[in-house]
Amino acid sequence: MKLGYYSYTSHLEHDVGDIHPEHPMRVIAINHQLECMGILHGAHLGSCHQVHRQDLVRAHKEGYVDQLELMSPTNGSILANVDTPMAVGSLNVAYQAAGCVIEALDDLMQNKVDRAFCAVRPPGHHAEKNKTMGFCFLNNVAIAAKKAQQHYGLARIAVIDFDAHQGNGTIDILADDPAFLICSSFQHPSFPFSHWRNIHENVINTPLNEGSSGIDMRRAVETQWLKQLQDFKPQLTIVSAGFDAHRDDPMAELNWSAEDYAWLGGFLSEISKEGPDNQILAVLEGGYNLDALAVSCGEFITAFHL
Ligand SMILES: [Zn+2]
Repeated sequence: MKLGYYSYTSHLEHDVGDIHPEHPMRVIAINHQLECMGILHGAHLGSCHQVHRQDLVRAHKEGYVDQLELMSPTNGSILANVDTPMAVGSLNVAYQAAGCVIEALDDLMQNKVDRAFCAVRPPGHHAEKNKTMGFCFLNNVAIAAKKAQQHYGLARIAVIDFDAHQGNGTIDILADDPAFLICSSFQHPSFPFSHWRNIHENVINTPLNEGSSGIDMRRAVETQWLKQLQDFKPQLTIVSAGFDAHRDDPMAELNWSAEDYAWLGGFLSEISKEGPDNQILAVLEGGYNLDALAVSCGEFITAFHL
């Protein structure tokens, strides 16, 4: 499998203070770990330009994008939402994160790579059509999914979210469209405290109790996702890859290990092989203990591009 890796150093400009958990060291730690593991040897490295507006507005309201532009501060930082600070450079970094993910999608569709991992920040899966939330401004995964559907004409796109928190924004944007099958595991109850009952036919919510282990997760995935994904036969799998379910992460109370992320990478790779095109686009979401994040991410990437 040819791996594409998409990241950039200008994310440093999205810096809302050392005490905020979503800080620049997250991506620096991942890059360091991947270099130590030798994973990037031979990988295609993306250039990561800013996203075009036409790609944003398939997923977000035009007025929402306008509002982000208007609220972007010219000095210091503001609260775009109660938990989502926005510094001078934050919006440009969010545009670049979305641009990275779109570039990765384009490379997959042109068969330059078979597996793509985007080590981007800020994360995206809590951002709704019309709302910033949970450190997120732009929903990178939904932006890519919409382009895959509307520009590339794909009819079956699986969207997998194994972050410790429900991908409420992704569900807000992609629910009730049969082109997407959304599988989201998350600690329950926990942020974003949304209504998780399976009220959308194309969404499989998989709530996990506080303290759930990786074995509990594997059992739930095999029971609730496997058959549905096999029957769906996705032409493309897009992954919200959050690593905050690790037992050492401070933002959730799940008990997964780095080996569980390796298992997830292998599981998704095998499912993808059953589809016609066997391609996976994975995008960083949460993960706030630097060591756990970096090692888990390395294990996942190693397994998902085998
Ligand atoms: Zn999370």
